[in-house]
Formats: sequence, C-alpha cells, structure tokens
Amino acid sequence: MTDTPDLAALATASRAEVARQMQICNACRYCEGLCAVFPAMELRRDHAGGTADYLANLCHNCGACHYDCQYAPPHPFAVNVPAAMADLREESYARFAWPSGPAMLFRRNGAVVAVLVSVAVAAFLFALAGRGEGGAAGDFYAVMPHGAMVAVFLPVFAFALLAIAMGVRRFWRAAGPLPITLGDLRAAMGDAILLRNLSGGGMGCMTAGERPDPWRRRFHHWTFWGFALCFASTASGTVLHYFADWPAPYPWYAPPKILGVPGGLLLTAGAAGLIAQRARRDPALRMASDARMGAAFTWTLLLLGVTGLALYWLRATPVMGPLLAVHLGTVFAFFLTMPYGKFVHGIYRTAALVRHAHEQRQSRVPEAEAPVETPGRAVNPGAGPARP
Ligand code: SF4
Ligand code: SF4
Repeated sequence: MTDTPDLAALATASRAEVARQMQICNACRYCEGLCAVFPAMELRRDHAGGTADYLANLCHNCGACHYDCQYAPPHPFAVNVPAAMADLREESYARFAWPSGPAMLFRRNGAVVAVLVSVAVAAFLFALAGRGEGGAAGDFYAVMPHGAMVAVFLPVFAFALLAIAMGVRRFWRAAGPLPITLGDLRAAMGDAILLRNLSGGGMGCMTAGERPDPWRRRFHHWTFWGFALCFASTASGTVLHYFADWPAPYPWYAPPKILGVPGGLLLTAGAAGLIAQRARRDPALRMASDARMGAAFTWTLLLLGVTGLALYWLRATPVMGPLLAVHLGTVFAFFLTMPYGKFVHGIYRTAALVRHAHEQRQSRVPEAEAPVETPGRAVNPGAGPARP
C-alpha cells in the first residue's frame, strides 16, 4: 500500500484535452460568469497536470457552457468542456483511489456495484434466514443482534472513510500544496451545500436540450439531504443505544424516526428523479462510462431509500426479516464501494471548492494595496484579478 510517487507529474490524454480546451476558453472567456471553473482558469496560464484535475472536479456538469459555445463541434476546435471534464473526473477518481489496486473498480463500476449488491443481499438473506421468529414484533435486533451489526458494519465503514481520506489527500497534493483557512472552508461548504455551480449561471441545468430547468439541481438537493438525514437517523440510534440506554424499536417521535422517515422519502424521490433525468440527458454532455458509474450509484441510493421506508411500514409483518436482509446487504455493498465509485464526486468537488475559495480570496486586491492613480500613469480599469 504505497503512495503513488508523483501524481502531479502524471500526464494523461484526458488531462491534455482539458488543458487544450482551457487554453481556448482562456482566450475566449465568454462563459466566465457561469460557474467557478472559468474564474479559476483565468487565474493561471498553465492548465496541465494537477490543475486540470482541480478544474475538472470544480465542474458540476451543468452543461451551460456547451450550449453557449461557438467553438463546439462541428467547429474544428471541438470544444466540449462538460464532456472533457467528466472524462478527466472519472479518470482522476481512479488515479487517486487508495489503495491503488481496487482502482480498476472505477472502470467497471456499474457491473461491480450490481454484483456486490446482489452477493451482499444474498449473503444477508442466507445468514439471517429464520432468525428473529418469535421475537418482539418490529425488533430488528431479534433478527440481527446490535453487537453483530456493529462488528460487521463498523470495520467496513471505517475502512471506507480512511480510503476516501487518503484519496482526497492524493488529489490535494497533485494540485499543489495550499494553506487553507476557516473562511475558505466556510465559503466552500456554502457553495457545496447550495450546489451553486450546478445552477448554470442562475438559469438551471441543461437536461434534454438548450432549455435549462431547475429540476436536476433540486433532485441533487433532495438526494443529498435525504442521505444526510438517514445518516443522522442511524447516528442518533447509536447514541440512544449506547448513551441513553434506549434501544430500538423506537416510537414515531424518537429522533431515529423523525430524521429517518423524511430522509428516506427525500432520498427515494431525489434518486428516482436523477435516474429519470439521466435517461433524458443529452449524451454529448458526459462520457458513457461516467454515466454508468453515476447510474450504479443512484440506483443503489434508490434501493437504500425504498428498503428503508419499506422497513418502516412493514416492520411488524412477516416480511420484516427478508426486508432487513435486503436493506443491510445494500448498505454493506454501498459502504464497500464508497471509495471506488461515484460517491467520491461530492468529496472531491468540495475539496476543489475549498481550493477555489482560497484562490478567490488571494486574488482580491485589498483596497490599501490597490494601485493609486497618479498623474501621467493611468490605472487600467478593465484589468482582471491579480494573478499569483
Ligand atoms: S466554452 Fe466555448 S464559449 Fe465558453 S469560454 Fe470556452 S470557448 Fe468560449
Ligand atoms: S459547471 Fe457547467 S458551466 Fe461550468 S464548466 Fe461545468 S458544465 Fe460548464
């Protein structure tokens, strides 16, 4: 498990293509108000290497710049920023994955996720078959004891967090060291939570053509907040179990239920909406492999949401045992593939937004340091931001 020697120096065709297109965009600058990519691009002349990875992960694939572009195919410059960025993003997930061995999972992510979910669900169905019969109605721990759940899920979740942290570290180092402040983190979290760069400059995402709409961004919001609430629901159940001596099953007013039910509804509706949008999306905006990875991730989220809600409504019936096995198998496969699938896109994009917040802060010239206009020496009013 060695670290990759020199990620910043690694040249790839996808990086070269992003750098080529950024050279054209940097001369054109027509799209500079659309998202964070173009202001970040304007701060540098060289867009190769780790800079290309950074810009690719700053792009949220809204598609607006593609439909605005006078150099898009059939023009010989063949500029298609969303597709070039999507291609490099997928490659960068594999390149920065830790440990490097499972990085091949990114290439066949759809098939790998489908197989893992099926195997994990089958394993849980087999292991939990017939358990819990005669236990209290709706008691999950009669089917799988709490200690066994912790022993199975905690190691795989801890490993996933470690692998993601190592991958982000590689991504950060490839783009160059940078000191960050709390203000940078605050600004980046605001952009990430509001999905500002998914707004296509305020008009919305392009889905099926040149007419933007707000739904892709909304479905992303629902999915994100649904997932966050479901996670908070599980975490609150753990706290109640260990620190308040209040084990499951919980009544409707307990925190795991208050958080979990709206979380499951949002996650299900958001994931279903994203799947429907993906089917209508212009294929020119992304690579086919990236679309397959995204589809595997979203279908897994949908299965998590649906089985979680079904457990809520059917927990006191005879199907609770098999339903719990399907849900736990899906959660297990989800944890296992988290560092090697589309899940990392949110983490890398947030890291790119932190870097962007830092660069934007640095590029602002403090008033006291601004050039003073003196007789015979005019200040150029059209000058762009100070370059590092
Ligand atoms: S995407 Fe096209 S229109 Fe937009 S800045 Fe680049 S070259 Fe110019
Ligand atoms: S976020 Fe949208 S406008 Fe910005 S580079 Fe990506 S596709 Fe183009």
